[in-house]
Amino acid sequence: MIPLEHARSRVLAGIEPFTPERVRLWHALGLVLAEDVVAPGDVPPFANSAMDGYAVRAADTERVPVVLPVVEDLAAGHVASAVLEAGTAIKIMTGAPLPEGADAVVPVEDTEQQGEAVRVLAPVVAGSSVREAGGDVRAGATVFTAGTRLTPPHLGVLSAVGVAAPLVRRRPRVGIMSTGDEVRPPETNRLLPGQIRDANRPLLGGLLADLGVETHDYGIVADDAGRLRATLRRAAAETDAVLTSGGVSMGDYDLVKQIVTELGDVALWKVAMQPAKPFAYGRIDGTPFFGLPGNPVSVLVAFEQFARPALLTMMGARRILRPRVTGRAAVSFATPEDKTAFIRVNARWVDGGWFVEPSGGQASNVLSAAAQADAFAVIPVGVGRVAEGDVVTLEMFRWPEDRRSEDSVDG
Ligand code: AMP
Ligand code: MG
Repeated sequence: MIPLEHARSRVLAGIEPFTPERVRLWHALGLVLAEDVVAPGDVPPFANSAMDGYAVRAADTERVPVVLPVVEDLAAGHVASAVLEAGTAIKIMTGAPLPEGADAVVPVEDTEQQGEAVRVLAPVVAGSSVREAGGDVRAGATVFTAGTRLTPPHLGVLSAVGVAAPLVRRRPRVGIMSTGDEVRPPETNRLLPGQIRDANRPLLGGLLADLGVETHDYGIVADDAGRLRATLRRAAAETDAVLTSGGVSMGDYDLVKQIVTELGDVALWKVAMQPAKPFAYGRIDGTPFFGLPGNPVSVLVAFEQFARPALLTMMGARRILRPRVTGRAAVSFATPEDKTAFIRVNARWVDGGWFVEPSGGQASNVLSAAAQADAFAVIPVGVGRVAEGDVVTLEMFRWPEDRRSEDSVDG
């Protein structure tokens, strides 16, 4: 058994980031910047009004109320025709450029219209309700650095600074397949004795969709050397990474690992982790191969620990591992002393800290309990038993959203 961290380092050591290319903003969500982005201009590009109101000289509002003639009406997208003279006002809408001569905006709430004039009820100081040019992003500033994974606000900022096609790395194409004579598609109404429905492809498809990569589905492949060989070769030729489930343990019909050894090489097998111990990693015709064990929770854990960081490496991400937080065990539980354990837990926020307990059965086939979980409690080798109150490391894969906040007040 290879220690988890060694196994992960060995997997990642052979993964190269893709060559950068430009992708239109609309298609860049979830992709990773391959260069620092320097703003070519200010955002906003000009000083403008933060409110609907009246552009004035602040000095004219020192003594209120004061009545100022309104000399112009300025909508967003339009520029004042003349300099604002002392003792006058220009009606201005949010986003319209501050007229030359004005240094503040009186919000409409602090005024009364009086025919062609405005009565200002509250004083303003220079700069009130004015957004300065470059107040959001300064020209020449580095807005985002290489390695940043683009979220919706990033896309908005890139658009605002005029980067319509950021330099990123493309989405990996990932081939997935379930293996096993017993595995049947979810549409199967009546399972014959010995058959089960496929949990792994929809699980993997979802994990990959969350990651924003392109999934190629190679379906369910029987434990048949010829079919496995053909499908693995095709997947390796057509994709950047192949993810299989099943067929990597010790059984007589666990053919996947054997065939990959024939077609390419299996660089590592058997990791000191629970679940997912039989995880195998290698190459088929140069394409990275992730042999995930067949049990669905093993698929989830091995994907999270190996495939996800590898795919994020291809994409050029700076952060490839999920952030970890600490919490405390709300109950005691046993873990295998010789393996890194990934206990599927629920997390509750109590008195300023996370409290966790197993979300259900911890056998590697019990995907329903993993579906209820918020986090993995990652228990290192050598611990053996976690006592109530012990500090544990958590890898949160979702924030507990479906529990009411009242639930967490006093546990
Ligand atoms: P294997 O690694 O092929 O020995 O499979 C280990 C266990 O996972 C067996 O009980 C399989 O029936 C089960 N299994 C394999 N593939 C799937 C799948 N796609 N969905 C649900 N369970 C599976
Ligand atoms: Mg099998």
